[in-house]
Amino acid sequence: MNDTEILAAFHARRAHYNVYLEANGIQVHTCPGCGFPTLIERGEFYICSICDWEDDGQDDNARSLLDELPGIKISGPNGNLSLTENRINIGRIMEINAELIDGEIDLDAARVLRTIAFYQQRRDEIEERMTGEEHVNDHIWMEWKEVRKDLQMALVVPKVSDMN
Ligand SMILES: [Zn+2]
Repeated sequence: MNDTEILAAFHARRAHYNVYLEANGIQVHTCPGCGFPTLIERGEFYICSICDWEDDGQDDNARSLLDELPGIKISGPNGNLSLTENRINIGRIMEINAELIDGEIDLDAARVLRTIAFYQQRRDEIEERMTGEEHVNDHIWMEWKEVRKDLQMALVVPKVSDMN
């Protein structure tokens, strides 16, 4: 997919999950960086468990909360990475994951929510074992980072058309 197609897929995916969340009254928000339902609140600087975007409030029709601070120019938590670049980056990762199993991104929203919750819990358990003294190269950090990759991989499923 080219960048335009990746961004179109992002918007379609996000809209699809948003419809499900709203229809079922589920208090979860889709991430502006990847479109998956990962955020329990918006604009609280939560870091997405899938794409690593830190939610500074930016969205298609909203600027970063940090831009509201008068007279101060702060580079946001995502550094120089723009929302669009982030969407393309995660889109490419998911495209590669889908190709690996000849599958597609899971659009079963209920299952996606369960998958995300499962891996978030796994990450929480790793964090509970951390003391805060670990070096960035310590095994436990590697383990923590692996959870993100595992989650990204768990979000692709065999193509529905192949399951007959
Ligand atoms: Zn995300």
